[in-house]
Amino acid sequence: LGLLPAFDLHHVYDVLIVGSGPAGLTAAMYAASEGLSVLVLEQRAYGGQAGHSSRIENYLGFPTGISGRALASRACVQAQKFGADVVVPASVHELICDGEVLRIGLNDGTHLQGRTIVLASGADYRKPALPNLAQFEGRGVYYWASPIEGRLCEGEAVVLIGGGNSAGQAAVFLSAHSSIVHLLIRGKNLASTMSSYLIERIAAIPNIILHTRTELTSLFGDENGLQEVCWTESVTGAHTSAAIRHVFVFIGARPNTVWLDKRNVQLDEHRFIYTGMDVQDNAGLNFSKSGPSSYYRAAFETSVRGVFAIGDVRAGSTKRVAAAVGEGAAVVAQIHSYLTRSASSARMKGSG
Ligand SMILES: Cc1cc2nc3c(=O)[nH]c(=O)nc-3n(C[C@H](O)[C@H](O)[C@H](O)COP(=O)(O)OP(=O)(O)OC[C@H]3O[C@@H](n4cnc5c(N)ncnc54)[C@H](O)[C@@H]3O)c2cc1C
Repeated sequence: LGLLPAFDLHHVYDVLIVGSGPAGLTAAMYAASEGLSVLVLEQRAYGGQAGHSSRIENYLGFPTGISGRALASRACVQAQKFGADVVVPASVHELICDGEVLRIGLNDGTHLQGRTIVLASGADYRKPALPNLAQFEGRGVYYWASPIEGRLCEGEAVVLIGGGNSAGQAAVFLSAHSSIVHLLIRGKNLASTMSSYLIERIAAIPNIILHTRTELTSLFGDENGLQEVCWTESVTGAHTSAAIRHVFVFIGARPNTVWLDKRNVQLDEHRFIYTGMDVQDNAGLNFSKSGPSSYYRAAFETSVRGVFAIGDVRAGSTKRVAAAVGEGAAVVAQIHSYLTRSASSARMKGSG
């Protein structure tokens, strides 16, 4: 993409940011606009998941929506305007926290130094393995169910795949708009994956039909979008084909943290990054403001001092563009206070 400035390997950046989705680019823009030196490292293309969205309709200030590509391009230009360097492609594969300065290792062996690091590497939605799925994303295949999607499928049948709580909530929501919600799950029931209150609600809603041990097997459509959906029951092999134009996928998200060493940064059981009060000390106690000051963690600080995590990669985050942007803005104040604290402790060490 031509976003490859020559690295100064001796320079210590104030902020190194991993990932150029909405969270990373917002942090870059605010940090650079407030005078910090910023380097953003992106493995694929700037914009992250949002950059792949054909139209974002629920981001404040764009009442008619904006394409993900347009939003991402504007954000990247804005961050660069304030002086942030954005490097694409640069794949981070290592976080090194063994000295005064934090370091990041790239796949090509380059090491970069930062006073702080912001992990904004996002998540990927799990997707069914269907060869033409991408063709229908945003044109019949959706990964969330907001009132916009509700209106899109008003009075029509929909297919929803997934057996977790988010799938259950989406099924209940969509049942108020659609004529029928076909809920497809791989397991033999919902009991092991969904809360019982949702199971009861689903059972009480007549237009939600649960198909157990069933998988989505193919999608058909044309330039107007999705037109037909097929699913197969795994035990009997029974095959169903229906003229359905809307498929909702709620089979979870996978954080982009395979490259992070668990011994370094605390992760939850799904490998999302713990921050703030969720970080635990060696005794398994949560850090809190009321505890000793050495325990205190800012809201987006990870278990490693000076390393922050924001956006979809953070445990407990709200998986939305606006939420990622909000965290990107908020983390910069936490970075300033960390830098001030570490500068004053370095001065005290020097004078002592
Ligand atoms: C198709 C689609 C449509 C969506 N539409 C909407 C919508 O309409 N409204 C809404 O609110 N939300 C929407 N979302 C969700 C929204 O896009 C995400 O919540 C948001 O993008 C999260 O931002 P993020 O910056 O935290 O992470 P991401 O957007 O996931 O960005 C993370 C970036 O980090 C990079 N990265 C990962 N690992 C590394 C590494 N090791 N080294 C370097 N770079 C790395 C990735 O390549 C990626 O560019 C949509 C998601 C998808 C997939």
